[in-house]
Amino acid sequence: MTTSPLFYQAGPAMPEVSHGHGVFLWDTQGKEYLDGCAGAISCNLGHGRQDIRNAMLAQLDRVAFTYRTQFENAPAVALAEALVEMTEGELEKVFFVSSGSEAVESAIKLARQYYVARGESQRRHFVSLRPSYHGSTLGALGLTGYQPLEAPFVSITSGSIKVPGPDFYRQTDGGRDAYIRRVLDETRAAIEVAGGDTIIAIVIEPVGGASTGARLVDKDYLEGIRRLCDEFGCLLIFDEVLCGVGRTGTWFAYQQWGVAPDLLTTAKGLGAGYYPVGALLCREAIVETVMANGGFQHGHTYAGNPLACATGLAAVEAIRREGLLDNVQARGAQLRQGLEALQSRYPWIGDVRGLGLLWGVELVMDPVEKTPFPAEANLYARVTALAKAEGLLIYPRRTLNGLAGDHFLVSPPFTISESETELLLERLARALDRLDREVVASLIA
Ligand code: PMP
Repeated sequence: MTTSPLFYQAGPAMPEVSHGHGVFLWDTQGKEYLDGCAGAISCNLGHGRQDIRNAMLAQLDRVAFTYRTQFENAPAVALAEALVEMTEGELEKVFFVSSGSEAVESAIKLARQYYVARGESQRRHFVSLRPSYHGSTLGALGLTGYQPLEAPFVSITSGSIKVPGPDFYRQTDGGRDAYIRRVLDETRAAIEVAGGDTIIAIVIEPVGGASTGARLVDKDYLEGIRRLCDEFGCLLIFDEVLCGVGRTGTWFAYQQWGVAPDLLTTAKGLGAGYYPVGALLCREAIVETVMANGGFQHGHTYAGNPLACATGLAAVEAIRREGLLDNVQARGAQLRQGLEALQSRYPWIGDVRGLGLLWGVELVMDPVEKTPFPAEANLYARVTALAKAEGLLIYPRRTLNGLAGDHFLVSPPFTISESETELLLERLARALDRLDREVVASLIA
């Protein structure tokens, strides 16, 4: 066999990775890449860390795997305690999984079981945003409002009621307050059509990632959503798989707006890219109700194993010990300034948005009308390839159906230094300059 037996997605041939250290990766040809997106927004502490390695080795030397129904294990308890503390005790219970999709599946099933246990089996709908991304398994995909991924599967997922998420970039006249009211009114109307007593939960990414390019909610919107949940007696779920565990400069993104959920999913950065570990956090009353009625009918073999939890614990301890949330905020401010400077250079950079070290850059054909570039131009892929050629990794996406256009995420590891942030911006500037001359000039002319 001449080609690799692996298959993932269609795309250009990839270099083979050799090794990584700090915010850098090298391929087997010796080329250096600055990891400007922390892999898939997961390698939050950079590559090649000895402290994580040592914690993993120490755990491997004791025991790698035990099953959650046979043994309690100290790293799992300690990591769960750390997660509860990160929510300042708002969410008291933790259920471990191995990925973001599993965390979302767990949230879906726990929330449904909660209402079944309460004798409210008629509650069967979830409300989620368009666009949004909640994962690739069928339940999580059902919540996802991201057309290219949904399309082949709509008839075999349970789906959800999709409502527009706030898009402050494309918000039209009437001002921010009126806009939020309109978005909330649309959400309420969709709930009322289905019947308020059929809703299990509203599911929201406080900062969007893969689907929206770091689109943000705001306090008024979240408070409005919380009020709707309370009014209709349903739960509020925040999907912080991507934006949780410090990425936005606070342990969880929702803390920036002070509106707490009933359930929260997190994963990606929890194991910092060293081992898969994710978690569902939730209020104690939900768990008590489910446990008093036969228990949670759900679980995955590798959930909460000692090696996974020791890795997650080492990552959380490193963030604490090194004061990395402060660095996320400081480098985030530097990144924002640099990205906004690039925006002022190129009119086709329509929007720069984000928090902490999670920044989205949206590219538009017409900055006044905010119209996306034609899909065939594949701008999101072109900019990513040019950045890679310049030695910078960024995370590309396009949202179709006029919801947004080409965008990319800049989301380096929390450990990035001031000079490395400058280097990131220099490499990005070179890639954008080439994009302007080699691609955009002919599209806009
Ligand atoms: N939810 C959100 C908000 C995500 O960003 C992702 C991953 N991009 C997922 C869920 C799914 O996580 P995983 O890929 O680990 O299954």
